Amino acid sequence: MTQASALKPSLYTVPEGADAVPALRGGRCVCGHVFFPMQTYGCEKCGRTGKALQPVLLAGTGQLVASARVLMHARKDRQAPFTVVSVRLDEGPVLRTLLAQDSAAPLPSGLRMRATLVEVGRADTGEPIIDLRFAAAA
Ligand SMILES: [Zn+2]
Repeated sequence: MTQASALKPSLYTVPEGADAVPALRGGRCVCGHVFFPMQTYGCEKCGRTGKALQPVLLAGTGQLVASARVLMHARKDRQAPFTVVSVRLDEGPVLRTLLAQDSAAPLPSGLRMRATLVEVGRADTGEPIIDLRFAAAA
């Protein structure tokens, strides 16, 4: 069995099983504000710091807020076209990420989305390198 390596393991968990939705490593303040990614610098809502902010796993599901298709990119290692999406997680935070598969068709805001892991390259050892993306929920 080939071991996969997560590109940004501090941001999400890599679940067992092909259909498992990755959980996102967010945080919650004692005031109730939920944010992503986890940090202890300060709550964006009330300003509390440190232990007032605790890690919480977010479900990795939400709604599409906006999308933009990139047809050309200045960096040669960024293969266009690709689609950038803003997703409001069910717990509240909005994150900007990439669509798992580029889409030429416009995406309706409000579309149900789910986190997924895609292979973005190969390590020197041959093991797949995976990273977080979002896709329309089936
Ligand atoms: Zn707070």
